[in-house]
Amino acid sequence: MIVQKFGGTSLENAGALERAAGIVARARGDYPLVVVSAMGGTTDGLVAALDAAVGGDEAAALAVLSDVRGRTQDAAHRFFGVSAPPVLAELAPLFSDLDRMAGAIAVLRSVPSDARDAFLAHGERISGLVVAAALAARGLPAVAFDVRDVLKTDDAFGRARPDMREIELRAAQTLAPLVAAARIPVVGGFIGAAPDGRTTTLGRGGSDYSAAILGAAMGASAVEIWTDVDGMMTTDPRIVPEARLIEAIAFEEASELAYFGARVLHPLTLAPAIEKGIPVRVRNACRPEFPGTEIRAAAPSGASPIRAIAFKKGLTTVDMVTTRMLMASGFLATLFEVFARHQTPVDMIATSEVSVSVTVDDPSRLPEIRRDLQKLADVEVAPGRALVCLVGQDLKHTPGLAVRIFRAVEAINILMISQGASQRNVSFVVEEKDADEAVRRLHKEFFS
Ligand code: ASP
Ligand code: MG
Repeated sequence: MIVQKFGGTSLENAGALERAAGIVARARGDYPLVVVSAMGGTTDGLVAALDAAVGGDEAAALAVLSDVRGRTQDAAHRFFGVSAPPVLAELAPLFSDLDRMAGAIAVLRSVPSDARDAFLAHGERISGLVVAAALAARGLPAVAFDVRDVLKTDDAFGRARPDMREIELRAAQTLAPLVAAARIPVVGGFIGAAPDGRTTTLGRGGSDYSAAILGAAMGASAVEIWTDVDGMMTTDPRIVPEARLIEAIAFEEASELAYFGARVLHPLTLAPAIEKGIPVRVRNACRPEFPGTEIRAAAPSGASPIRAIAFKKGLTTVDMVTTRMLMASGFLATLFEVFARHQTPVDMIATSEVSVSVTVDDPSRLPEIRRDLQKLADVEVAPGRALVCLVGQDLKHTPGLAVRIFRAVEAINILMISQGASQRNVSFVVEEKDADEAVRRLHKEFFS
């Protein structure tokens, strides 16, 4: 069997539902289990409604909910035509639940974390019902299945973690027989249930995680993530139009890229599947003929020793120089404690005997950080920097690569260099204005 997960944009309107039905129909012989996100924009809408309700503005919350309902109903009318009423009747209690919850929250002006999850879960519960009906309307033996009966989690609301043993047991008892009978279960992603049965969510973007969890629990032969991009690319095609699709990438490589390309998917959420050796394929629902990118535990080497070139702009570097570091122990800890105290993650780090440089993504606490660091070292803070990163599992055993990399960008001023501890990436910092050029030159060197 396989797991097919459809993201919000792959379900956002009648045309998208039609494409999804076509994709499931073609996979029928592989015994699919279908995992769905909330329809496009729904979760954002629900979050906005919650915010309005917590602010005491019930009217605004209801207006947002009415907009979400309108879009869902519109998609249903267009897809199901005259047979829309039964589906809409199934959805009605869910939408009225949302209205009532929003009203209550607006009175209380606060929302407990379990109620928040119960509220947000409606998006996936709704799309589960819509998609099951849509598949059935196209002659597929689909059944809507309440995933909370299987996907058991802890009670960390908002970022619940799966109880894999319990999930495996329950999947074997309930989902597996359906699949074996050639039915197509359709479940909502993103949601689960705590030990006491209360609804939980896995965190924003959690439907990919659900797909990986269920794929692992059921021993799927593949997990397909149907989204709105062709897959992972060798670099950003907006900078380098010749950027190519990555056909296969190792999980470790994809994880290195996560910091840069989180928009496509967060590889860590795929871990349950990857750990079991199940390949995960990222596919474009608008171009199902396209192979997409396959993420697996071990991926074959490509023609280039580099798998991808990523970059991130808008970074700030912090340079700390002090002779107190000479031969001292514990000094780095003291410096980093300052960043920790101000809850600011540092990304790249380079050190010498008397200096430490780091890059920071979020500059909001930098004034306080600088103030505290100045007690320890000379500090220089420079915004407008960019990180360029080459990722590839072959980096560690390809001699002469550093020469190729830095010769390709020799005309560009390099401010900081680091070869990641994983030896799967080489990163360097440049002025933001030089980033595009650096990426173009590197792409030319390694991919053309
Ligand atoms: N609907 C949820 C979100 O937007 C989960 C998901 O789409 O993966 O975050
Ligand atoms: Mg997503």
